[in-house]
Parts: sequence; C-alpha cells; structure tokens
Amino acid sequence: LPVIVIAGRPNVGKSTLFNRLAGRRYAIVNDQPGVTRDRKSVDIELRYRNVTLVDTAGWEEDDPQTVFGRMRQSSESAVASADVVIFCVDARSGINPVDEHFAQWLRKQGKHIILAVNKAEGNAGNIAALEMYSFGLGEPYPVSAEHGNGIGDLIEAVLDCLPNEEENDEFEDFENENVDRPLKLAIVGRPNAGKSTLVNQLLGEQRVITGPEAGLTRDSISVFLRDEEGEVELVDTAGLRRKARIDETLEKMSVSASLEALKMAEVVVLVIDAELGVHEQDLQIARLIEREGRCCVLALNKWDILEDREAVRQAIKDRIEISLTQMNGIAVVSFSALTGRGIHKLLPAVRRAYAIWNKRVPTGALNRWFEEAITRHSPPMVEGRRLKIRYITQIKARPPTFVLFGTRTSKIPMDYQRYLVNGLRATFDMPGTPIRLQFRDSK
Ligand code: GDP
Repeated sequence: LPVIVIAGRPNVGKSTLFNRLAGRRYAIVNDQPGVTRDRKSVDIELRYRNVTLVDTAGWEEDDPQTVFGRMRQSSESAVASADVVIFCVDARSGINPVDEHFAQWLRKQGKHIILAVNKAEGNAGNIAALEMYSFGLGEPYPVSAEHGNGIGDLIEAVLDCLPNEEENDEFEDFENENVDRPLKLAIVGRPNAGKSTLVNQLLGEQRVITGPEAGLTRDSISVFLRDEEGEVELVDTAGLRRKARIDETLEKMSVSASLEALKMAEVVVLVIDAELGVHEQDLQIARLIEREGRCCVLALNKWDILEDREAVRQAIKDRIEISLTQMNGIAVVSFSALTGRGIHKLLPAVRRAYAIWNKRVPTGALNRWFEEAITRHSPPMVEGRRLKIRYITQIKARPPTFVLFGTRTSKIPMDYQRYLVNGLRATFDMPGTPIRLQFRDSK
C-alpha cells in the first residue's frame, strides 16, 4: 500500500491529524508533550484508496535543545518508506527555526511533501497559513485537525501525489512489491502462551500497552523493533490484550484475535506453550495462517520449565506438519520469553521465513524442474484421456504462487497438485511457506 507519513515538531497536532485522517481514535491525544509513545501505523481507506498512515512520534519527551536531531532520527526511516509526507506545522506558533531546519532536510529526501498548517481555524488561520509559503514546500494547506476544517482539501492533495493505482494485473503485481518497508510481524497464540511476555522481552522493557482504556484494547497499535537487518513492525500489540466479546469464549477469542492480527502481518509467530503441547486452537490458528497465505514461525515457549526438550520439539513439529502439509519444514524456535533465553533466535528465523515467502524462482529453472517432474510422474488420465500441463510460471510471491497452463486443468486431482507443490518446495528450497497453484486452460 502507498505509505503516508505524518511528520513534524512535537505538539503541532500530528496525532490529532492522524486520528482525523484515520477516522477513529487510534492514538492517545493530550496537550502535554510526551503522550504519544510508539510510532503508530494503520491501514485505512482514504476516499476509496487503501493506504498506510504512519504517525511519527515517540521523541516528545526529549530535550528541546536537541529536538531537531531527534525529529530527524525518529522520522528518518518512516520518511524513507513514505510515498507522501504530510509535514505538519502549527499556525499559532508561526514559523519556527526547528520547522525550517526540518523542512530543509525533508526537501532533500526526494519525497512528495504536503504542508499542513494545523490549528488554522478561521481567517487568522488562513493568513497564518499563507506565511508558510516561505518554507518552499508549495501550497500550505490550512487545517484544523481538531475541528475537521480543511481536511478534505488536504486529503485530495495527498491523494494527488500517489502513483496511479495498479490495474489488477497479477503479472504486473509481481514486479511491484515494495521491499523497503519494515517487515510486519504478528505474534499470535492461545491465551497464556506467553505472547505479551515475549513482546515485552523483545522490546526490552515493559512497553506493551495494557492500560484499561477501552480504546487501547480495541485498536491496533504497532510498535517497532530494530535489528541489524532493519526495522520490524510488530502489528496489533494491543490485540494481545483484546478482551473476549460477550458471545466468545476465551478459546474462540484467541482464534479470532489471531485472525485479526495475522491479516495485518506478513510473518506470523505462532507461540505455543511447550509445556502444554499443541492444542486444537493452535491448529486452528495455524490453519488460518496457512489459509491467509502468511508465512509462519513456530515459537515454543516456556522452554525453561521443560525436561525432555528434544522429544517435545519433535512431537510439536510433527503434530503441526501432519495436520498442515503446507507447513512442511516450518521454522521452529524454542526459548523462554520469561528469562529471555533463546529469543535472539527469533528475528533471524522470522527473516529467513520472510525471505522464503518472498522467493521468486527463475522461469528457466522452474521449467527445467517441471519437465522432469511431469516426466517422472505424468498427470493422470481423467475420463479416458491424459491431462496435459504445458508449462508453469510464477506470477507472485508472498506467498509463492504459480500458474500452470494446460488443458482441462480443472480436473487435476489434489494428490497430483500436492506432488507438484512438494516438488517445488524441495527443489527450490521453500520450506514452511504456503505455496499456491493456479491453473489456466490454454488453447
Ligand atoms: P499471553 O496471554 O499469551 O500474552 O501470555 P502472558 O505473556 O501473559 O504469559 C502468561 C503466563 O505465562 C504469565 O504468568 C507469564 O509469566 C508466563 N510465562 C510466559 N513466558 C514464560 C516462559 O518462558 N517461562 C515460564 N516459566 N513462564 C512464562
């Protein structure tokens, strides 16, 4: 999705603008500096266009002396991933040297920039906004994030900067994946598997928001992790603490909450309480992960209290693989979320799974394999005639998706499809990721 990033000085009203554009109260807004802690990002629809909206915040509490440096630091990666940056300034405070400095830096980033002049209610606001032409960022858009004035024009200006929506051509789609964005990771599993403990351990501090505010448990809030390889966005951390609806049992809730989270994610870590082993709900969640075409890493938690570790690992892996053939070869990581022991293995495993999920097999190699595969074991006879498959091509990654062209392809039985999928998985080294086949009749 196109990414829209809101950047600007503390307290100019970024979070209010974020909420206004998102149409829901996603961020906690308060007049005091330092209230918005984590960078938030949310997928929303702006005038029928699906976009990702990112709020840069988290440095509000810093010393004003260094505020520009911090602004830049905290915005850098967000701005790098942006298609459009909404640079938010405050009409009431006029032109501010920090803003000027930041504008100068921003101009060099080669991004579309829309200048939003917030708190610009009424005539005085419009006049203040005109002054902002001097940033050299084009037309200033006077808005009141709080009251909603000027938001329509702002949205229009932002949408005008976005690249045209891709036609839904699957073959094109394949070439157009944006790889610079943070990897989106969801942590799912049954209640008490240790998800929150794990997230806190990953963040290195008690940061998962567990507050009693109704909005906090319902809305999806992302937090960001960083390792040598780049940024990882932990989606829906608030969902970890989602409360069951009245008509849900706790168990059902764990499945539906997982579904919500994994829809936002690229990689899903399924946390299993290794002491309890695999439960039906774990399998249900794993099935959802597979059905939604996400890649999965199996995390066996509470490793500190286990005795026969190897046997447990094998039993759990077997159970998952037997129930879900698409998870054959799935990455398994074991650790103690409580002590932190072993969790350093998690992100590397996540990255590997992600790379597999993104894999593109070169067409030449693919068809060499394919020739051999159908020679070794040819498509079956159906209604007295042999089915024909002529060639194969990969149309998509995330997950790897292949189209096979032939005649009467709708008749190709499941076990032959499985034979092909297993062959692809083994030959092109794609363990643990869903692989999709589609068929087309060519005449
Ligand atoms: P969540 O519902 O999946 O978010 O689970 P929590 O993170 O709240 O953990 C549930 C319980 O399991 C808490 O009492 C944790 O202290 C405990 N727990 C979590 N991880 C571990 C672990 O690695 N080892 C042990 N022994 N206990 C753990």
